[in-house]
Amino acid sequence: MTAREKPAILWFRQDLRLDDHPALHAAAANGRVVQPVFILDDAAEGEWASGGAGRWWLHHSLEALGTQLRRIGAPLLLQRGATADGLVKLAKELGAGSVHCSQRFEPAGPAQEECVRSALAAVGVSFAAHAGALLHDPAVLRTGSGVPYKVYTPFAKSLRAHVAIGDPLPAPRALPSVAQRPAGCTLESLGLLPTFDWAGSMQGRWTPGELGAQKRLAAFMAQPMRDYGEARDIPAQDGSSSLSPHMHWGEISPRRVWSDVSRSDAGKSSGASKFLAEILWREFAAHVLCNFPATASKPLRPEFAKFPWQPSTKHLRAWQRGQTGYPIVDAGMRQLWATGWMHNRVRMIVASFLVKHLLQSWQEGARWFWDTLCDADLASNTLGWQWSAGCGADAAPYFRIFNPILQGEKFDPDGEFVRRWVPELAKVPSEFIHQPWEAPPMVLASSGVLLGETYPRPIVDHPTARERALAALQKISSGKSAARD
Ligand SMILES: Cc1cc2nc3c(=O)[nH]c(=O)nc-3n(C[C@H](O)[C@H](O)[C@H](O)COP(=O)(O)OP(=O)(O)OC[C@H]3O[C@@H](n4cnc5c(N)ncnc54)[C@H](O)[C@@H]3O)c2cc1C
Repeated sequence: MTAREKPAILWFRQDLRLDDHPALHAAAANGRVVQPVFILDDAAEGEWASGGAGRWWLHHSLEALGTQLRRIGAPLLLQRGATADGLVKLAKELGAGSVHCSQRFEPAGPAQEECVRSALAAVGVSFAAHAGALLHDPAVLRTGSGVPYKVYTPFAKSLRAHVAIGDPLPAPRALPSVAQRPAGCTLESLGLLPTFDWAGSMQGRWTPGELGAQKRLAAFMAQPMRDYGEARDIPAQDGSSSLSPHMHWGEISPRRVWSDVSRSDAGKSSGASKFLAEILWREFAAHVLCNFPATASKPLRPEFAKFPWQPSTKHLRAWQRGQTGYPIVDAGMRQLWATGWMHNRVRMIVASFLVKHLLQSWQEGARWFWDTLCDADLASNTLGWQWSAGCGADAAPYFRIFNPILQGEKFDPDGEFVRRWVPELAKVPSEFIHQPWEAPPMVLASSGVLLGETYPRPIVDHPTARERALAALQKISSGKSAARD
């Protein structure tokens, strides 16, 4: 048998789709028989193995992928354990000549690829990691001085100028599969679902899998995209795409999103252009993490390593449970727990509140998000937290401290978002919804609110917390002036 005729293995990772899948096309080239496999290898992910919400998503996404692959004739094989060992064993069993996968850019990704490459080389099997996860190659795009970008705007300009975003590849209609199906494990035995059922409300909100991703993009392009520029900041509205978990798990490729949006009827609208700019924030996040891999746990700006955080289990718990006494913060944290997702504006507010009002480290916040977000993505989460804490690439300066009351009044003026997620405040008049402690006792009583009992009093006083945060900043830097909120 020549290498060409030997079966190929398609190793699925965070690319759980058939559309626009360069690794799949390479594996199936020349009519080759393909064995698709997904291997759950938590040890290879180290401290960043998927958290609870991510694992819930992965379970359902694998189920959806399995159904699609069965339909086109190449059932998905599931395994768990060390990836390199699993691939070598499988290649020997099938007499496979090559293994194909999509590249990953988080620190664990390239390390795993190297390990697989050398293990396969030792048994004479070729290995190729293909593009597909991003629009650009983070190892190639560089500033004029030849270094990686740390600022979004020049990065985005350079990507638009130098990267040719080609046409997406079609999904195959059929995939010839191996005659003898190798042994694998069941989806249930991967143990991805929670042992107690906290995921009930996520079930109704999401449709993991490629078809769910395509439907969501189509629905977004049909309506909200035109108004995205303004609506994306209003948490009570479905003004953004909610594509993030689909994109994290690779159920839709960034090239497909880019191409469909650009070519749609509203492709030239200001909403579409703002949306594509956000897709480039995803690229930027991957660029930063790929080139500065230590930032997953350490600040990009080293002076912040000495920031005088004031660890407090009590404050951290109150934040995690949506019991801080600041309605917009609590609404966001409860939305996160119930749906595995949080609106972007509210992510910025709750992150700022944790690191600045409560002086809890950004790493604590990032960890909680990692476990509770179904779109938990090492690059975007790290960028988002370091941006909020003022210690990362193109970050908001630390001294710019979001006022949770003003943010609530500006982006949730009638308190619709707060009322939805903090039902104990549902009857509070809009005037006081973002600061119920200012409401006269009669108003609170008629709204059914007993502060300190049915809803907490503010865990910290905003002006005091603001001064404390600025004093903490002074300890690591001198000569920076404080700006107003
Ligand atoms: C503290 C913090 C933590 C975050 N953690 C994550 C995370 O773990 N995973 C994640 O995907 N995003 C994260 N984000 C970025 C952003 O909040 C989400 O991508 C966005 O809210 C997802 O909703 P959407 O799909 O409706 O976005 P849309 O507004 O519809 O944007 C479209 C897509 O662009 C990308 N995108 C949008 N904004 C950003 C951004 N600021 N950074 C990177 N990519 C972006 C996402 O892939 C998103 O799906 C974080 C932001 C903050 C402030």
